[in-house]
Amino acid sequence: GGDIVIVGAGQAGFQAAASLREGGFDGSLTIVGDESVARYQRPPLSKAYLAGQASGESLALRPARFYADHRIAIRLGIRATAVDRAARRVAVASGEPLAYDHLILATGARNRPLAVPGADLQGVLQLRTLAEADAVRRSLTGRERIVVVGAGFIGLEVAAAAAARGIAVTVVETAERVMARAVSRPISAFFRTAHEAAGIRFVLGAGVERIAGRGGRVAAVETADGRSLAADLVLVGIGVVPNVDLAAAAGLPVADGILVDHRLLTSDPSISAIGDCAAFPSPFAGNAPTRIESVQNAVDQARCVAARLTGRAAPYGALPWFWSDQGRVKLQIAGLATPHDLAVTRGDPASGAFSVFRYREERLVAVESVNRPADHMVARRLIAQRAPLPAGQAADPAFDLRALVG
Ligand code: FAD
Repeated sequence: GGDIVIVGAGQAGFQAAASLREGGFDGSLTIVGDESVARYQRPPLSKAYLAGQASGESLALRPARFYADHRIAIRLGIRATAVDRAARRVAVASGEPLAYDHLILATGARNRPLAVPGADLQGVLQLRTLAEADAVRRSLTGRERIVVVGAGFIGLEVAAAAAARGIAVTVVETAERVMARAVSRPISAFFRTAHEAAGIRFVLGAGVERIAGRGGRVAAVETADGRSLAADLVLVGIGVVPNVDLAAAAGLPVADGILVDHRLLTSDPSISAIGDCAAFPSPFAGNAPTRIESVQNAVDQARCVAARLTGRAAPYGALPWFWSDQGRVKLQIAGLATPHDLAVTRGDPASGAFSVFRYREERLVAVESVNRPADHMVARRLIAQRAPLPAGQAADPAFDLRALVG
């Protein structure tokens, strides 16, 4: 029984609602979301959808009638504006406040703005929502030169999709290598070479200082080291900022994310936080507050909270995993690595299919696989089971990894 309100109609929010019903929750269940279109998956937005290979319908999380059938009230286009913790009520931008016995914050994250002059010119776009993806898709038509700011996952996915459409693409990035925060050097090197082979040009180790326009529209991206890169479209992909404002205004502790414990509870026992907005003590990061931006994390955290609220509490300890499709290359990551972790390569990068095993103090902490889905699947089990794998065996393609997992 009771009333559960979920703020945020994204991957995490919808999964929480579905898992609550699957777990037998029979109280009232309301999702409030500020996007007017919701219930869609974001990953294809920078991949198949951008390339025109996926329809809007294919983005749906679940068929529309699922929510009605499961008595899940969905209120879209409405922003939650405040949480009154004493009265257990969420104020919304239009309509009556929503009373809750338990509140789940699944507010996600928003694009980090590029703080330079000219970032507001026409033709400077970012990509998080379906509306933004539609704008990018439309804007690519007829363009000749696009500059992508940021060589992270989204920047590179968009770069690959644009290059495949015959557009000249330049990627500008402050770090010295692509995806520097997320992957090892051999993976960065491989992707840079693969993208260059597809015609993408990289300007690395360069910060953007200004975007120059002509008649209100973008004309060039200017770097701090004095380069001017002509552009008729600019895509900014420099990461996200977690949506913590609602929680912070309600007096909940926040840092880079809404702080939760190993059960995904905030400091208020009536409020949980999940998905991109939550910072939780990850057993894969020495229990340091960790925020993970992935579908796996959103889904597994939603399931964890739903299980607790239906009487099957367990600490959150799901293994992180992630994927990125860039052109014809598929990257899959299991586990959490930091830039300092040792990198041991298995297979020959020149063959276009290989994996990099990451070690911290001789313990396997992550595996990054390029076009090697079998390595990825076995890696998930190896890391989750904390199976010992000496680096020498990881590097030996003749050694059968499957022999190590139960
Ligand atoms: P979100 O999906 O951001 O949902 C949160 C929702 O809450 C949003 O609609 C937001 O507008 C709303 N909201 C916020 N505040 C309020 C409020 N006060 N009131 C009402 N509503 C509010 N992950 C992968 O694992 N693999 C991938 O390949 C991958 N590719 C991606 C590609 C793109 C282009 C993007 C943008 C993301 C990608 N991700 C990928 C990341 C993944 O989509 C996110 O980790 C996931 O969507 C997080 O889900 P969430 O529910 O926590 O947040």
